[in-house]
Amino acid sequence: MILMKFGGSSVASPTAIRRVASIVQSQVHLKPVVVVSAMGTTTNKLSSILQHASAGESYLAWKLIKELREFHFCVAEDLLSTDSLQPIDQYLRETFRDLHVRMAEVGDGERQVTPEETDWVLSLGEQLSSRIVTAAFVDLGIPASHFDARKLILTDDRFNNATPRYWETYAKIRWTVPHAAKDSVVVLGGFMGATEKGQTTTLGRGGSDLTASIVGAAINADEIQIWKDVDGMLTCDPRLRSDGYLVKTLSYDEAAQLAKAGAKILHPETVAPAQRLHIPIALRNTFNPEAPGTTIAATSAACANPVKSIVCKSGITLLEIHSPRPEVSVGDCSLALRELFVGRKKNIELLGMSDSVIYLAVDRGAEYPELQTPGAACMEVHLRSDQALITLVGDGLTSNQDIRRQLVTLLSGAQALLLPQESPSCALRIVMPANYLSSYLAILHNAFFAAPDIRVFARPSVAPAPQVETHPVQPEDRESRKRHLLTLTTKLWALRN
Ligand code: ASP
Ligand code: MG
Repeated sequence: MILMKFGGSSVASPTAIRRVASIVQSQVHLKPVVVVSAMGTTTNKLSSILQHASAGESYLAWKLIKELREFHFCVAEDLLSTDSLQPIDQYLRETFRDLHVRMAEVGDGERQVTPEETDWVLSLGEQLSSRIVTAAFVDLGIPASHFDARKLILTDDRFNNATPRYWETYAKIRWTVPHAAKDSVVVLGGFMGATEKGQTTTLGRGGSDLTASIVGAAINADEIQIWKDVDGMLTCDPRLRSDGYLVKTLSYDEAAQLAKAGAKILHPETVAPAQRLHIPIALRNTFNPEAPGTTIAATSAACANPVKSIVCKSGITLLEIHSPRPEVSVGDCSLALRELFVGRKKNIELLGMSDSVIYLAVDRGAEYPELQTPGAACMEVHLRSDQALITLVGDGLTSNQDIRRQLVTLLSGAQALLLPQESPSCALRIVMPANYLSSYLAILHNAFFAAPDIRVFARPSVAPAPQVETHPVQPEDRESRKRHLLTLTTKLWALRN
């Protein structure tokens, strides 16, 4: 059996869904189980509907609901035969009626936008797309059956960013899916699950990749294929630079570090379930199925280039916690600090540490935790706001002294900071003021990919147009950020007792 996951743009139109069907058909002998994302930008639109409804902008919410409803009806009508359309038509009507009623209640103040409510709404995209895709497969001659992911993926109740309860989930999937997959292609929506009580949860944005990996692991798939609209992992974000190379092979550790550092192509938790069972993950392009893509496996091919890919992230606030005296190690309180951050997986991240300093990243707009004195001695805290983080990834990178020396030379000048690594890993991190990001990225990309090893790197066949993502900071965001930082700084200064 194999697992095939198709992302939002792969199912964004009738033509795209037909293309998906032909890709599935070409591998139907391998007994695929298919996971799909919501069609196109449906999840973003659902999120805007919630925002408008809770801001009392009922008209805007209604307009967007109408737009989404028409979009789904158009796709279904274009794709499906009269017989297949009938149950889908009914399902679409009911779903959009429910959504409309709920959002009207939110607008009237009768219903709260709780995290549970948010997840119910956000999951609709995958609920709709998975049913439409199943019906389309059947019409196109692929025997297919639909499974509701909420009956298979059991999660905790951290709504909006739930964590699957892996073993129970594996058991549920093993009981049902392989049997059904014997004579039909099983299709389910990604991104969602349900709590023990049956409340709908979502796994965090981009979470369909994680669904793919969990289901792939549960059925012990021979391969997990993740089909997107790019050729695979590139040496840098195509929206930042258009001259990146395709990386043909990566190790699990490299892929996990890239995803964790912010590579949009993979959800950060996707790698672990596949890695545990040594299932290769293949990143492929739906719009260019002949391209080799990226294969992620236990070991990657030998490579003359130490760096495989560079990931950038902006909107970072860097907290630098120093020990003011050489005889005091910040490591003494690192455990206590770490404990404070456990469970806040999105908000605060340990980027690097040595005996004398700890570096923490705080995402823009995140809530800061209530820090309490971890019983440590004097510490000094510096804050750098509006920073960007560049992560270089390649197996053995942190123990490669030549690379460190090369980086120190390349980054000479006061603007960029090469962070110390706590333990050997395949990621090196550099922090700089956000407005220096593109110049440093150019320096690093030119230095490390001047002569790419053709065993591992290739030119991507379709160069996507560069399009820089910007995160405009709202004035009120700035204010609340300042307030939060002030509280945090005061608390950290209190550690100097
Ligand atoms: N539709 C969800 C999102 O856009 C999940 C996914 O596509 O992976 O985040
Ligand atoms: Mg999506």
